[in-house]
Amino acid sequence: MGRASRRKKTTSAGDRATRQAAPQHELGARFQAAADAVEAALDQLEAASCEFFLASRLRRPYAIHDLLQLRENLEQIALEVSFAEEMLTENWLVPELTPRGKRWTDELTPRDLIEQVRAGGNREGRPYAQQLEANRATEAAVRTKLDAVAQVLCGRSNDCQVHVVTLPRDAPGPACWRHLTTDEKASIGALYARAVTDHACLGCSAPPGEPCDTSDSAKLEPIDGRWPRVRSFLGQKIHKNRLDELAPF
Ligand SMILES: [Zn+2]
Ligand SMILES: [Zn+2]
Repeated sequence: MGRASRRKKTTSAGDRATRQAAPQHELGARFQAAADAVEAALDQLEAASCEFFLASRLRRPYAIHDLLQLRENLEQIALEVSFAEEMLTENWLVPELTPRGKRWTDELTPRDLIEQVRAGGNREGRPYAQQLEANRATEAAVRTKLDAVAQVLCGRSNDCQVHVVTLPRDAPGPACWRHLTTDEKASIGALYARAVTDHACLGCSAPPGEPCDTSDSAKLEPIDGRWPRVRSFLGQKIHKNRLDELAPF
């Protein structure tokens, strides 16, 4: 507190201008200083514990071993912090999707940030904070759309409150699966079958004609930045992206 108020009194207009660009570097420097202090303390701990445990012929507790192990991690993290800070200050570009093709929406660790920037070669995407916000907005929009479809109620037979089945490209079906007419069931069932015969699945790599692998052990690829979802209709299970390959219903 003393530090902040002292600073306030001596700040001139010129100081303020230089400091506005500086706070990020200042924070990184503080992190580095704290990491250095911890490292020095760990050095002391190592030296003292070597002497003590050797002289006393006691076994060194595991907790001390663990603490000493942290030293390497801390050094690595401090390096990453300073590199990441540079990337933030210089507005390096972060791609929208991870190298696996998934849209990231969680805040990245310094290491993740460095890897993301590297993957895009500083040519793809936007500066970190902007890309984070954009990714979250995109995800929210997709979710809103999916939620809206999931909210459509059947309304047949005494105003049935069950949600309708969904068709390709998230179009709401005419009724819930229970209240579909026989013809509707047949035509929607045929859509599911046609999606399988006519299209490969980009989500689980099933070739045309073979059913999707909807098991927990399926090897999946993200589609448009998201993991493929499973849609099922009267026992037919299929990844939503494969169903969406069909022309609008
Ligand atoms: Zn119904
Ligand atoms: Zn599939």
